[in-house]
Amino acid sequence: MALRELAVFAVPSTGSKGRVYKEDPPDYRTEFQRDRDRIIHCSAFRRLEYKTQVFVNHEGDMFRTRLTHSIEVSQIGRTIARALNVNEDLTEAICLAHDLGHTPFGHAGQDALNNCMKNFGGFEHNLQSLRIVDVLEERYPNFPGLNLTYETREGILKHCSKNNALELGDLGERFIKNHKPSLEAQIANIADEIAYNNHDVDDGLRANLLEINLLNQSELFEENFKEVIKKWKSLSERQMRHEVVRRMINYIVGDLIENSKELIEEFNLKDVNAVRESRQSLIKMSKFSEKKHNDLKRILRKELYEHEQVRRMTKQAKKTIQHLFNAYMKNPSFLTNELYTKIKKNTKNKYEKEKARIVADYIAGMTDRFALSEYKRIGDKK
Ligand code: MG
Repeated sequence: MALRELAVFAVPSTGSKGRVYKEDPPDYRTEFQRDRDRIIHCSAFRRLEYKTQVFVNHEGDMFRTRLTHSIEVSQIGRTIARALNVNEDLTEAICLAHDLGHTPFGHAGQDALNNCMKNFGGFEHNLQSLRIVDVLEERYPNFPGLNLTYETREGILKHCSKNNALELGDLGERFIKNHKPSLEAQIANIADEIAYNNHDVDDGLRANLLEINLLNQSELFEENFKEVIKKWKSLSERQMRHEVVRRMINYIVGDLIENSKELIEEFNLKDVNAVRESRQSLIKMSKFSEKKHNDLKRILRKELYEHEQVRRMTKQAKKTIQHLFNAYMKNPSFLTNELYTKIKKNTKNKYEKEKARIVADYIAGMTDRFALSEYKRIGDKK
């Protein structure tokens, strides 16, 4: 099969550092296509459909969920990867997996679970994404998890504290050495930001939580909004909103591609190791556009994520997670039979810590609606 010639600084399709458990190479796919396919087929990926991005899943069918968000991230990531001639399959795999470890109820859920786990090693969604693909998914007879390539796992692990990095072997090394991941991983990271900034404008306007006047404080929004209403005099609100968002994405992605091309050229990268050792991100917007992008991000944080209606949901989410955690810890028989048996068998010294991790894994894997129904079920039993 003829493969597109990739740039020297891309992760080569046939040059992976490999998988933890050795496997024969795939017949018709690259190793990274295989990773992407394994991600799409896993249960954690399917559950993203019913997990909150900003809005709780049952608030309306039109809003983004973690699944549609991940697909948008991957679409933006692939455009950038192809334009820079780096590995599109790897970029896609990282993008699709980047949010697998999210708890129900978005960031509020993660904060609550982290708080519950503060005496047991904490909870971090990014590490949890890795834990899902490395350990928690049970799909293969010969190994735990999905046994993904080093490069996909490297991309999934966006942040990591030095303490956690020490426990992660070769994957944690870059956080200790202050190295960067591949360009493909850097693309996935920024594609995530571009996707949520823009789709949150769309969802926020649709939900009437944002107003045009407020968004016009952002240069990025205002410029594109003015252009659109000048060009078309009688657009519906819906057409206007979509056209503005489309233009904002095009502008930022275009700027990012051109600016990154220049940076990559400046660094004269010989291979992917040179990318890792460069110690600075090479996938970057120009200063000028980065400021516009960050201004919009700030406005969204203040006006949307802190909006009273969103905060009300946040409060309820925290209460739900906390209640579930305490109930399962106190009475593990509320868990599934399988998990209950696993906890009963466990008699090591670290008993409480291991029990807490099993509970946290279980809660983190829940969809919004399952968490709510568990909350109700357990509440009814008391
Ligand atoms: Mg994301």
